[in-house]
Amino acid sequence: MKEKYDYLIVGAGLFGATFAHLASTRHRRCLVIDKRNHIGGNIYCQQDNGINIHRYGAHIFHTSDKRIWDFVNSMVPFNRYTNSPVAVAPNGELYNLPFNMNTFYKIWGVKSPSEALQKLNEQRCEAIKKMEADGVKEPRNLEEQALTLIGRDVYELLIKGYTEKQWGRKCSDLPAFIIRRLPVRLTFDNNYFSDTYQGIPIGGYNKLVEKLLEGSDIQLDTDFFKDREHLSSLAHKIVFTGKIDEFFNYRFGMLEYRSVRFETETINNPNVQGCAVVNYTSSDVPYTRIIEHKHFESFGDSVYENPVSVISREYPAEWNPGIEPFYPVNDQRNNSLNTRYQELAQKEPNVIFGGRLAEYRYYDMAPVIAKVFSLFESDTNL
Ligand code: UDP
Repeated sequence: MKEKYDYLIVGAGLFGATFAHLASTRHRRCLVIDKRNHIGGNIYCQQDNGINIHRYGAHIFHTSDKRIWDFVNSMVPFNRYTNSPVAVAPNGELYNLPFNMNTFYKIWGVKSPSEALQKLNEQRCEAIKKMEADGVKEPRNLEEQALTLIGRDVYELLIKGYTEKQWGRKCSDLPAFIIRRLPVRLTFDNNYFSDTYQGIPIGGYNKLVEKLLEGSDIQLDTDFFKDREHLSSLAHKIVFTGKIDEFFNYRFGMLEYRSVRFETETINNPNVQGCAVVNYTSSDVPYTRIIEHKHFESFGDSVYENPVSVISREYPAEWNPGIEPFYPVNDQRNNSLNTRYQELAQKEPNVIFGGRLAEYRYYDMAPVIAKVFSLFESDTNL
């Protein structure tokens, strides 16, 4: 049994599965283990009433990289889902996301891009002046970034409450890059992403992951840390996609993660909210968003073919041992702790670390795949 495999891949999520696929095409033998009882990591879908439930949170694949898009579509066909969420603000009104002409029209009544720009610039200038008075050139945190990007009105209506409950921290204590994920547009365009390609695998993400794992051995319900020595002895190399701090026995202390608790409910109504994602930006509402899963895969009137619908409320929570870590909290303290762990990782010649938890990076799906591609391109011996 010893060293039967070239790779022991710890974690059957997108990083691990993509690695397994590329390794298998090079005729490497892979054993993929996961402590959960299913493959897919956080992109796993669970069937409920004939609907694919994104059990660990909504995942929408988007990229401008044609190579990545062609690759995932060669595994499984994708549908034409386009994310266009709606926000319920503290005043009870609905606003379109991302921030675009529809949003600005609703907030300020502005009807043309130049009117909107004037309004935006007035508000941005205020924020920039305040920063200049403080002797600051670049936004130091999410609050300053949001105010200089979009101004106080939008910040207070659609960003502050949502962000502070999502992260459990003040906007002034959060990194600026998080809010740069959202585009600001002077067009009437409710498409959340600016990428060229977007969609969801037809039949759900499990189909994609199953395809990626073809040719690999899979062992579920297997916790690497419970049998580390034995499992490590099965392969020449390890691909580790779990928590980097746990890999090193929390030697420098624990990294912080943000978690989410999902409350999922089946409702006797074929179309509850009319779109997949509705955000609740008020700090008085305890959840950040409600996902209505069927809209990820049924469009137009076909929504009514299934008389019921399944929704999930997302309650953000601080991570504690025993619950699922979802988001790295990339503030200064955690980033410098992570740097120390990554330095340790570099001294492990037989372990490849990758993915959201092992790199402690707020990764989207396409960049995860791109990262695995680049590993194989830079090392023909993999
Ligand atoms: N955000 C916000 N209001 C919204 C939606 C998002 O302020 O209605 C901010 C918030 O800080 C969030 C960030 O934008 O953490 C990124 O949102 P995204 O939808 O990309 O988050 P994810 O889907 O990864 O949870």
